[in-house]
Amino acid sequence: MTDGLIACHECDALHRLSPLPEHASAHCACCDARLYHNQPKALSRSLALHLAALGLFIIANSFPFISLKLGGRVETDMLLSGPLALFAVGMGDIGLLVLLTSIIFPLLTITAALYLLLPLHFGQRAAATGAVFRWIQRLMPWSLLGVFMLGVLIAIVKLLDLAQIEVGISLMAFAALLPVAVLAQQSFDSSLFWPHHFEAVAASSKGASVLISGRARQHGLVTCHTCAYLVDEKHWNCPRCDEHLHMRKPDALARTWALLVTASLLLIPANVLPIMTVIRFGQGDPSTILGGVVHLIAAGMWPLGLIVFFASIMVPLTKLLALVFLLVSVQRRSGWRPEDRTRLYRITEIIGSWSMVDIFIIGILTSLVSLDAIATIRPGIAASYFAAAVVVTMIAAQSFDPRLIWDALDEESTQKRVLMEKSYG
Ligand SMILES: [Zn+2]
Ligand SMILES: [Zn+2]
Repeated sequence: MTDGLIACHECDALHRLSPLPEHASAHCACCDARLYHNQPKALSRSLALHLAALGLFIIANSFPFISLKLGGRVETDMLLSGPLALFAVGMGDIGLLVLLTSIIFPLLTITAALYLLLPLHFGQRAAATGAVFRWIQRLMPWSLLGVFMLGVLIAIVKLLDLAQIEVGISLMAFAALLPVAVLAQQSFDSSLFWPHHFEAVAASSKGASVLISGRARQHGLVTCHTCAYLVDEKHWNCPRCDEHLHMRKPDALARTWALLVTASLLLIPANVLPIMTVIRFGQGDPSTILGGVVHLIAAGMWPLGLIVFFASIMVPLTKLLALVFLLVSVQRRSGWRPEDRTRLYRITEIIGSWSMVDIFIIGILTSLVSLDAIATIRPGIAASYFAAAVVVTMIAAQSFDPRLIWDALDEESTQKRVLMEKSYG
């Protein structure tokens, strides 16, 4: 019986679920990851947030969000114009990436969540709840509305010295969509569809769950990556959401290494080749990522320069180094500060997608600034390499399994115990 139990998804520590006061969260006693949260009226709240998000999404995509006036000409942009412009200049790969991450995946996750939440609100269960839930969880990390918004803001500031900018109604809707979408995403979790079974015990004073000695693996239990259901290791698939079950992510170390090597190789052309060419009055010079940063700082736009520097150079490098460090420490079976290493992994997973901001800026600038002779911005080949590097590092972070950090500790303590028993026996 695994009802009433939960395993931490980051360190596999086993806990007994206990009822929480309203608005409280239970955190892992081992690594401090959040285990579950008691949100009153969670279903109505999630439904309202998703309905609002859908409404704002439709407005944001139906009207122009920005117009640029230069030399008597006006260029008006819809959110869809960025990807279309990238297709038009032959950069279909990054056009597709921008289209998927800024429009299609957000729309799919919002509508699919509504498909599950609406019937549930009326006491019904939608068909294929498990499969749809699984797909939403898969697409969520690739739905990058927040990163896209940052790209829009940087593009606007960048263009202010070039032309007159007017923002449209759609940009307001988009700005409002951002917090709503974040809250909606946070409100959507497996306990809406598969409520926790609490043990009949009083809520503990700290509102924390009780740690049971040993990790789920030592008790022959495996956690579903998708819906957090704790299942006997005999199962191949999750009985709730049909996700393939693994004690640990398969070949996590080899896969992560391979992806990291690929990403490092991609980052070389991404930084050496030109990423963007700004043509003004028929003359233009291509610039690299670093060149663009230097140009922004030289033009007095140093806050922007710093953001682009962090997002495009610091974040990818830090992420690569952090993952290499985690891999090496796991392979050496290090017992050094496991909580901090788990935290490092958590941060690595969150910050990775922010590197996409440069790709979004390029998409927006390409579609807006196409005034032929006066001013034109063209993406360079490095944009494709850079986008690929960002995608590959995001997959690399997803393939790493933080529970491996903790497994090494258990092996160490087991070995010690065996040695002790041998010396005393
Ligand atoms: Zn934990
Ligand atoms: Zn599951």
